[in-house]
Parts: sequence; structure tokens; C-alpha cells
Amino acid sequence: MEDISFDNILNAYAYKSDKDLKRSRFLFRTMGYPLFVPAATRITPLLIKCNVPAINKIVSNTIFKQFVGGETLEATAPLAKTLGKYDVKIVLDYGIEAKEGEDNFEQATEQFIKVIKYASAQPNIPFISVKVSAFASAELLKTLNEAPRLRSGVHDHEEEEAAWDRVSDRMYRICEAAAQAGIGVWVDAEESWLQDPVDRLLIEMMEEFNKEKAVVYNTIQLYRHDRLNFLQLSHKIAKERGFILGIKLVRGAYMDKERTRATQRGYPSPIQATKEDTDHDFDAAISYCINNLDSIAVIIASHNEASNLFATHLLQSRGLPNNHPRVHFSQLYGMSDNITFNLASAGYSVSKYLPFGPLKDVIPYLMRRAQENTSISGQTGRELSLIKREIDRRKKLS
Ligand SMILES: Cc1cc2nc3c(=O)[nH]c(=O)nc-3n(C[C@H](O)[C@H](O)[C@H](O)COP(=O)(O)OP(=O)(O)OC[C@H]3O[C@@H](n4cnc5c(N)ncnc54)[C@H](O)[C@@H]3O)c2cc1C
Repeated sequence: MEDISFDNILNAYAYKSDKDLKRSRFLFRTMGYPLFVPAATRITPLLIKCNVPAINKIVSNTIFKQFVGGETLEATAPLAKTLGKYDVKIVLDYGIEAKEGEDNFEQATEQFIKVIKYASAQPNIPFISVKVSAFASAELLKTLNEAPRLRSGVHDHEEEEAAWDRVSDRMYRICEAAAQAGIGVWVDAEESWLQDPVDRLLIEMMEEFNKEKAVVYNTIQLYRHDRLNFLQLSHKIAKERGFILGIKLVRGAYMDKERTRATQRGYPSPIQATKEDTDHDFDAAISYCINNLDSIAVIIASHNEASNLFATHLLQSRGLPNNHPRVHFSQLYGMSDNITFNLASAGYSVSKYLPFGPLKDVIPYLMRRAQENTSISGQTGRELSLIKREIDRRKKLS
């Protein structure tokens, strides 16, 4: 059994020009300065809001280029084509800033449907990503999240029910367009206090659209200690009702926010006690999904080398092909090329999650990426050392 190596820098950076690599090195180095990111993530959104041209230019040429596919749908095309040459697929993520109001929700829905239609006309874009908070009010999600815990156990406010019907209808239209176009829809998981109604809605959508193959995917955040159980429960429902459970496994992006809110409001934190607990449940979820591929389609969405390796070993030990149609890997564009391109070169089905949108709309996404990449000791250090090695290797050749 030949082991995949995430150290192969020839595969990892073949698609990058020297200039791209130097920009990445500059960026990862800068994000590693301890005081830089906290200050920059506070100031940059304000400056972008004020539309300061010099700042827009700096951000566009640095972090935006590293993590975003372009300002418009069409601007992502050259990158999609380049990645396609290396068998790396694209998941289009319309980086919309959640704006409240029914008109905005309708517009967002139409945008998602437009992205689906665009993806279906491209050779290399099998999935798109959707956030329910783009077409549902956060207040409504929060209220419905609490509803089962209300004393009566029944949620019967007419206005809210009508608003929720509209949200369900929007989700339905998106899934219907995706099913017709042959595109998969990954629904992001957001904060835990918005998630219950989304989970319930997605079970309904999967029952409707995932009969023959997975069109709709829910996201499970394994940094929550209740989610392994939730995965098993969702699977039980899928088997009872005869649909394929579409699942994207992530560790989770809102840990500090979750813990802070739980402390402030005095309820038990939904987050695992330690990183090791999260890692344990993440890998247990991978095992659970790979052991049940007759009724589960899984996306392993992670930059963690050990978890990606674990999944490849599991496929091999079960005698399953690398490109199993129900197992897909994904990393964010701008991160962990060593994982993505080495998986692709070994024949696994893998993609880059590629946001696009106007600079001001993708700023929250960019700030999350900056915060995630501050620790030089972890993944960022690894990223930086591989990029430096590739720059040195090319220098020696020239
Ligand atoms: C394709 C793709 C789609 C994604 N979609 C979503 C999404 O829909 N929703 C979402 O929330 N996130 C999403 N993410 C982000 C993801 O949740 C992680 O934040 C990110 O990928 C880092 O985790 P990791 O598995 O890559 O690796 P690692 O670097 O090994 O893990 C870091 C993660 O471990 C967890 N962690 C860290 N410290 C602790 C601790 N002390 N205790 C407990 N847990 C800890 C946190 O979740 C942290 O983000 C997505 C990521 C990818 C690649």
C-alpha cells in the first residue's frame, strides 16, 4: 500500500507562478507577527467601509488574491480552468454579506440560483456553497432554535411561521435548481444558536432531493461535543426515510465566539473541552461515514494532515477506490495546497472552496482567514516552510 505524502512540493505548487509564491510567503509571514492580525482585523473592515482607495488596493493585491477567486462569478473562470488541469475541482462560495430584509433575502436566493446555473455550464464546478443566514433573519433562526425548549414545546407565532415558510421555500428553490443542474449544495454550519432550524430544514430537503444521489449536504462541526451523536441520529433518519445523507465534516470556525457567549449567558459551552476531543470526534465521524457509504456521501473538509491521511488509509483498508463517488476532500482556496494537490495527484476526488464577491462583502471571510493563520507554530508555519522550500528549489534551478 503506497502512502500519500503531503510533503511533495512539486505537486503542491505547480500551478503557482514565482510571483504568486512570493506573495503567499509575504502574507503568511506577515500574519505570523503576533500584533499584526489583531490590529489589522479591527482596522481593515472600517477602512474598507470608508472606501479608502489605497487600502482597497493593498487588500485586493494581498489577502484578497490569496483567498478569493475574484469580485464576480465570471472572474473565477481562469482559476477554475487552471485548477482543473490538476484535477482539482471548485466549490463556488458566493461571499455575500448577510443583509437583513425580505428583499435582500430574495436577492441572495436568486444569486445562489445564478451561481448554480453558472456552475452547471462549467466543466470543473460540481458544488456550490450556501449560507442559510443569507436568506433568513438571524432573529428568526435564533427564536426557532429556542422553540423546542419553550415550555409549551410548540412554536405557534403566526408571523414567524410565515417567515419560516418563506425561508423553506427559498431553500427548496435552491435545491430544486441544483438537482436539475446536477450540482451539489453544501450548506454551511454557522453559530450553534442558529443551527437547529437549519438542521431540521436540511433533513426535509435531503428527503426530497437525495433519493438517488446526494444533492444537499449539511455541515457537522465536530468541535461541538453533541455532533457525533447528531451524525448518527441524522443517519438513522436517512435510513428510515430512504435517502442518502449528505454530510460535510468540519471542526468548526466559531470556537471563541461560542465559548464567550456561553460564559456570558451562563449556559454550558457546546464546544469540546480540548482540541484532542475535537480531533477524536472528527476522525470518529470520518470512520462512521466511510463505514456507511451505502447511505452516506461525505465531504472531508479539513486542513489537518493527520485527518486527511486517516481518511485515505481507511479507504485503502476497506478496499475502496481513491475516487469513490461518495467521498470527497476539500480545502479552502489559499490554504494547504500540499494536501489538495497531492490528494488530486493520487486520484482522490478533491476541491478548493473558492469564495468570490465584492471586496467589502468578503471582508468578514478574509478576517476569519487572517485570524486562523496567526499561529506560526501550527498549520501556518507548515505552510510557510513548504512555500519557502519551493521558492528555494526554483531559485536553484534558475
Ligand atoms: C471546505 C471547508 C468548508 C468549511 N465550512 C465550514 C462551515 O460550514 N462551518 C464552519 O464552522 N467551519 C467551516 N470550515 C472551517 C473549519 O471548521 C475549521 O475552522 C478549519 O478548517 C480548521 O480546522 P481543520 O480541520 O482544518 O484543522 P486543525 O487546524 O487541526 O483544527 C483547528 C480547529 O480545531 C478546533 N479547536 C482548536 N482548538 C481547540 C480547543 N482548544 N478545543 C476544542 N477544539 C479546538 C477548532 O474548530 C479549530 O478551528 C470549513 C473548512 C473547509 C476546509
